[in-house]
Amino acid sequence: MNFTIALDPVEKILGMGNATSFEPAGDAPHEEGAPPGCFSPQAKPSRQERNMAALRRSISQVMTPTGPKPVLKTMMTTACERNCFYCPFRAGRSSMERITLQPDEMAQGFSRIQQAGLVDGLFLSSGIIGGSPKAQDKIIDTAEILRKKQGYRGYIHLKIMPGAEKDQVRRAMQLADRVSVNLEGATQERLRLLAPKKDFWDELIQRLLWVEEIRRTERVRASSVTQFVVGAVGDTDLELLALSEKLYAQAQISRAYFSAFRPVSETPFEDRPSVLPKRQHRLYQASFLLRDYGWGVEDLGFGADQNLRLDVDPKEAWADIHLRSAPVEINRADRSTLLRIPGIGPISADRILAARRQGSLSDLAHLEQIGVPSPQKSAPYILLNGQRPGHQMALAFSTK
Ligand code: SF4
Repeated sequence: MNFTIALDPVEKILGMGNATSFEPAGDAPHEEGAPPGCFSPQAKPSRQERNMAALRRSISQVMTPTGPKPVLKTMMTTACERNCFYCPFRAGRSSMERITLQPDEMAQGFSRIQQAGLVDGLFLSSGIIGGSPKAQDKIIDTAEILRKKQGYRGYIHLKIMPGAEKDQVRRAMQLADRVSVNLEGATQERLRLLAPKKDFWDELIQRLLWVEEIRRTERVRASSVTQFVVGAVGDTDLELLALSEKLYAQAQISRAYFSAFRPVSETPFEDRPSVLPKRQHRLYQASFLLRDYGWGVEDLGFGADQNLRLDVDPKEAWADIHLRSAPVEINRADRSTLLRIPGIGPISADRILAARRQGSLSDLAHLEQIGVPSPQKSAPYILLNGQRPGHQMALAFSTK
C-alpha cells in the first residue's frame, strides 16, 4: 500500500536546503550552515533547530536595485530529466532527494517565510520535468500568485529555462525584477562538453537576446544576468571574458557570474579537480573592468594558456607594464585614463575630476580627503603636480 505524506510547503522548501547554492542570485559567497558532524549524538538538534539550519542554507544576502536583501533561493523541483554533467540535479543521480512544489505551495511557503521577517526576496529556479515550457510555466505561475493574489511587491528573480518560449520570457520579465539565463559554457563546444542536451545558440543565447529586445522595445525593466561554470572542460579565461564583453555590450546583461567548478559525486565529472576560488575571483575583477571601467578584453593580460595570472589583480598587472615607467598626472588625466590606475574606480575618478575644478591635487593625503579610499595603491603609477608621491614623501622627510 502506498502512503503519500503531505508535507507542509515550508518544510518542503527547507528540505531543499542549499540546493540552489549552485545558482547565481547576486549573492556573496554562500554561508553554509553547520555541517552534520557538528552535532554530537548527545546534542541532537531539535526539529526547530534543524529547520532553522536548513533555512539559513536557503537564504543569501543579495544586492538588489534597492540595496542588499536576504533572499530565499529555492526551486520548484529538484528533479530533472536532463543530464548536465556537472549538476547535482541531473537525471539518474540516486543520492539526490527529489522534492517538488506546485505553484500555490511555493507561493504559500515563501509568503510564510517572508511574513515571518526572515527574507525579503525570492530567487526561483527549477529542474526540468516534462519539457522546458512546462517548467517555466510553474515558475511564472508562482510569481503570478505572489504578485496578483498576494500583492507581494518585493524582489523576485526568476530563472529562464533553456528553451523557454518568447511569451514566457516576456511574462517572466513583467513579473520579476531580474531574470537569468545560465549559459554555463563560453562556446557551443564547451557547452556540449558540459551539458550535451543544451543548445548554446537556440536555447540560451537567443533567450538573452530576447530579454534585451523586450526590455528595449516594450519598456520592461527587469535586468538580466548569466552564469558560467568555470574550469571543468578546459575553458579559458579569454573565452569566458570575450563572451562576457559581448554580452555586456549586446545583451546589456547586468552581470556575468563565474562559478568555480566543484565536483559532485555520482556525476561524470566526480573525479575532476576543483577549480581554485582565486580563478573565480580574478574573473570577477576582469569582468568588472569590462563592465564598469571601459576596458576591452584585449587590454587584459593573458598567459600562454589564455588564462589570467592568479598572483596579481588584472588591473595591477596591466599597470605594472604600462604605468610604472610612465606614470599618469592626476591633475590632467581624462576619466578613462584615471580608470586605468589601480586604486581608482568610477566613483574615485569622478571625485578627482570634481576636486580638480577647485584646484590642483598635490599629495596623497589630498586624494584621501576627497574620498579616494586607498591612494597608496595608486602611488606607484601616478604623478601629483609632476612629482611621484614617493618623491614627495622623501622630500617632506628630508626637510624635518
Ligand atoms: S537542466 Fe538544469 S537542473 Fe537539469 S541537469 Fe541541467 S543544470 Fe541541472
